[in-house]
Amino acid sequence: MAPQFDRRGFLGATGVALAGLPFLGATPDRLAAAVPAGAADASWRGAVHAGYIGKMELKYEIFDLPTVHDFAIAREGARLRRDVWVRLRTPDGLEGWGEAAATPYYGETAESVVAELPRLADALNAAIGDDPFAMEKADKALEVALGRNPSARAAISMALHDLVGKRLGVPIWKMWGLTPAGAMSSFTIGIDTPEIMRQKVKEAAAYKNLKVKVGTPRDEEVLKIVREGAPHAAIRVDANTGWTAKQAVAALPMLEEFGVELVEQPVPADDLDGLELVRSRSKIPIVADESCKVATDVAHLVGKVDGVNIKLSKCASLREALKIVHVARAHGMSLMLGCMVESSLGIAAAMQLAPLVDWVDLDGAALLAKDPFTGPGIGPDGSLRFNTEPGLGVKRA
Ligand code: MG
Repeated sequence: MAPQFDRRGFLGATGVALAGLPFLGATPDRLAAAVPAGAADASWRGAVHAGYIGKMELKYEIFDLPTVHDFAIAREGARLRRDVWVRLRTPDGLEGWGEAAATPYYGETAESVVAELPRLADALNAAIGDDPFAMEKADKALEVALGRNPSARAAISMALHDLVGKRLGVPIWKMWGLTPAGAMSSFTIGIDTPEIMRQKVKEAAAYKNLKVKVGTPRDEEVLKIVREGAPHAAIRVDANTGWTAKQAVAALPMLEEFGVELVEQPVPADDLDGLELVRSRSKIPIVADESCKVATDVAHLVGKVDGVNIKLSKCASLREALKIVHVARAHGMSLMLGCMVESSLGIAAAMQLAPLVDWVDLDGAALLAKDPFTGPGIGPDGSLRFNTEPGLGVKRA
């Protein structure tokens, strides 16, 4: 059985991570001195060794993410997700953290992620050794060694960025020259019975932007429930590939009637002509999600959609996410920033990019019944809260 979080281990881990946080601008020596002797070992209890990258040790734990409600979309529904917490530790006790939000649609499970971690550690060891700053090299090596494991690679990218930010004593957004501001996040109302959906809309009353999953025979009923419950909220819809182009075009007048602000991925991922057709008939902006995984995908979507949705668990690294931003902007396209159902650790990594996008959809941790981490993310109304602590600014909850 896979190892689970254990409270004592967590508290120990928090102690080590926190030890470095108050020391903005600290030198590595000062950070090392801040870690009490013995604390480092306690924090690793329950974590599984995956390998060494230079002298940095890579460990992981699988954890459960129970959601408040079933999370149903056009193609699947589930209440429990399992993600992987990866930690990269330097010999002086500094830790970088990342989360792999493994998604079966993109070919991964928590088990496949942990099965690949030793190979990933070997590839990184050969590419960057002891240098977490060599992130371009790290990305290239991981793409070659583990091309089909985007969330596993993303977790490593997060951990490297977290480590580098802590080493430099700055948040990642600051390291990138960004200003901590951005659009209000949407909050997802999952498909359910009318009674439960009305309840969900009531629970989400504070949010200014709601996202509704469509692409089922109940679209009109579902939108009516949400619009009645939230007459002043902006409503975005996501079909998650659930319509044909013809069905999407037929749905447009209804979507306009309900004042929908944005339509995400109306048609199957590889139906780029379908996207183009829907966009040509739509007054509402069309955003590609499943059709756009990495920066090179943006080139194929130019003129076919209004914007693309960036997710770290699709594009596999924070650097690739930045490339998507630049390629899309070069073509005058809009940008959305999304997530999976994931903890505040994965959300914290995505948050670093929030100042660069037009639409924020980072409700992954807000949908959880229990979040094992705290950090930057969205407030109870969807406003964005950035970290002032170095790196990702994440602690154990
Ligand atoms: Mg989507």
